[in-house]
Amino acid sequence: MRRVLIVGAGQCGLLLGHGLLQAGNYEVTILTARTPDEIRQDRPTSTQVMFGPAVAIEQQLGLDLWAAETPDIAGLHWTVATPTGDRLDIYGALDAPARSTDQRVKMAGWLELFEKRGGTVHTANISIGELDEIAESGRYDLIVIAAGRGDLTALFDRDPARSPYTTPQRGLAAAYVNGMDREPRTDLWPNVTFTVLPGAGELILIPALTTTGPCDILFWEAVPGGPLDVFGDRPDPDEHLARAVGLIREHTPWLYERCANVELTDSRATLTGRFTPTVRRPVGELPSGALVLGAADVIVTNDPVVAQGANAAARCAAAYLTAILDRRDDDPFDRDWMHSTFERFWVDTAAQITNVSNGMLQPPPEHVQRILGAATQHPEVANRLANGFADPNQLVDWFMTPDGADRYLGRIAAHASADAGR
Ligand SMILES: Cc1cc2nc3c(=O)[nH]c(=O)nc-3n(C[C@H](O)[C@H](O)[C@H](O)COP(=O)(O)OP(=O)(O)OC[C@H]3O[C@@H](n4cnc5c(N)ncnc54)[C@H](O)[C@@H]3O)c2cc1C
Repeated sequence: MRRVLIVGAGQCGLLLGHGLLQAGNYEVTILTARTPDEIRQDRPTSTQVMFGPAVAIEQQLGLDLWAAETPDIAGLHWTVATPTGDRLDIYGALDAPARSTDQRVKMAGWLELFEKRGGTVHTANISIGELDEIAESGRYDLIVIAAGRGDLTALFDRDPARSPYTTPQRGLAAAYVNGMDREPRTDLWPNVTFTVLPGAGELILIPALTTTGPCDILFWEAVPGGPLDVFGDRPDPDEHLARAVGLIREHTPWLYERCANVELTDSRATLTGRFTPTVRRPVGELPSGALVLGAADVIVTNDPVVAQGANAAARCAAAYLTAILDRRDDDPFDRDWMHSTFERFWVDTAAQITNVSNGMLQPPPEHVQRILGAATQHPEVANRLANGFADPNQLVDWFMTPDGADRYLGRIAAHASADAGR
């Protein structure tokens, strides 16, 4: 029986741990910084919109446990506010519903279930020195670090060729609330309402499930130093909410009525922070020379502006699970295997997720502006865009380059004129 240690009980670590347990023939230990109750009582850690392909991974592992209570998100509604005061509205329907189940609910539940299903759980906020002692003991055949954006990232060197930014591109401020009204003008409901204020940042409204039941999340992404960047002093939850709603009244007044009466879902229902989007090298070397494999946010940290990190973490877990199961009993989990395991995940999934996430932090290039214009006119374009964010590989050949956009928009225009001539 091969023994695997996973550090970090988050989106990636828990999916991988459950997957290995279900495969049988693995003794799986998860090291978690917090107990399930501590996770539930802590602050939120994400806004965690999960699109269809990532939800499918959870379903395959028997972990889609809150589907009945979590709102099914039918589509994405983008509004781009122009400097002249006009607004572009785009409604894109998703092929499969997206869901946002508070990670406090999900990780706590999955961790309890992992133990019930036969996994071993140790609670410790482990340091690099302690990890080295464990690695040196030779108890584990493989150690995977799935500890998110915390201190253990120090084990992995930054990859400058894949990391265009050296500073945070957004200040993040999310509040979980009750009492938000539904959007009056659409049948595409529930939806994620994504409002772009060019040069200042974005407001994202997300239907979700939290520890107290169904709710909405009010999430500001602020360009550093701009007018929305008012959460840097980490205000207490009530003050956070007052500022978040104040920004809506001032900068997106058309949304104010929906949000005028919101209240926090619980006393710790807010989250603030900022971090630099970074890609790191996947193999970490401990002081003793033992090797560890980094997973998900530890290696690929993207700004959440287009809601990709938890989706990428689920896909990373699925990719690593396949790579581990493909290894025969006597094959070592060595440096080459670690490199190729990550590279496959990078090429298949993470590269596109990273390109899209990094690109959306900049003003849209001309060809993207043309696509957005077409999406206001043609539901087919809007739907393709929405489903492209569910799986960024689907954006490559038409959204990411001017040539691809020309070809696609040319076809759309030709169909439209053929339809008009009928
Ligand atoms: C404000 C915000 C909004 C977001 N919105 C979205 C979204 O809508 N959609 C989306 O896809 N992604 C979103 N993300 C990103 C997403 O939350 C992360 O990418 C995802 O959770 C990463 O999963 P992970 O498994 O790598 O790490 P995590 O889920 O962060 O889990 C890491 C775990 O490791 C534990 N840990 C850390 N250090 C140690 C240690 N030393 N010892 C033991 N345990 C440790 C932590 O406590 C944590 O439980 C958002 C992020 C933020 C900050």
